[in-house]
Amino acid sequence: MSARILIVEDEEALCALLEYNLKEQGFDVRLCTNGEDAMNALKDEQPDLIILDWMLPHVSGIEICRQVRARPESRDVPIIMLTARGDEDDRIRGLDTGADDYMLKPFSMTELIARVRAVLRRARPTLAGDIATFGDIILDRETRRVRRADKEIHVGPTEFRLLDCLMQRPGRVYSREQLLDLVWGRDVYVEARTVDVHVGRLRKALNEGFDKDPIRTVRAAGYSLDETYANVSAG
Ligand code: CA
Repeated sequence: MSARILIVEDEEALCALLEYNLKEQGFDVRLCTNGEDAMNALKDEQPDLIILDWMLPHVSGIEICRQVRARPESRDVPIIMLTARGDEDDRIRGLDTGADDYMLKPFSMTELIARVRAVLRRARPTLAGDIATFGDIILDRETRRVRRADKEIHVGPTEFRLLDCLMQRPGRVYSREQLLDLVWGRDVYVEARTVDVHVGRLRKALNEGFDKDPIRTVRAAGYSLDETYANVSAG
């Protein structure tokens, strides 16, 4: 699973360039070329980060930024503003309105991607890199290894993806159907009960030798990571 980025930019060439480069870095990208589309897109689904152009037709970037910050569901979504203006006043105004970072056009893609990663690392630590942590559990996507309190945990590939998925958003409850889509993929036909079997295996592997179960079963809803676990185990 990768971080979802919403790009709001009316220059088509720049849009295409951003989309290409961010997708290549493994990000899930959605594009909007004006402010109204962006506000509609935000009603559907919250991205993990917004790249927002200052100068947009109809609704300006600064206005979108204000609206994003005013809504409880999008208040915490990090925003990187793009602008052609170099004026210090505008820069400060952008940051005042709630942007997390600022890029002056023209910018290098390498620089933008570095900023995207930095902002995500602060706002969504589990999505930013190869290593995800939850309390004393560490999941390394590069080496495909899992550790809990310095003990190596051996999990199968499905259990690994399942844990990775749950660790992306601790506390969020995933239904069996959502887990099937995210872990097994939409095109694969698997019974919902299969999820229970693999959660069972993951629990067995994770919990051997430990008292606390970090996975929460939510009756009639699904599974999530128990947020209280992260607080307790992190001291
Ligand atoms: Ca523009």
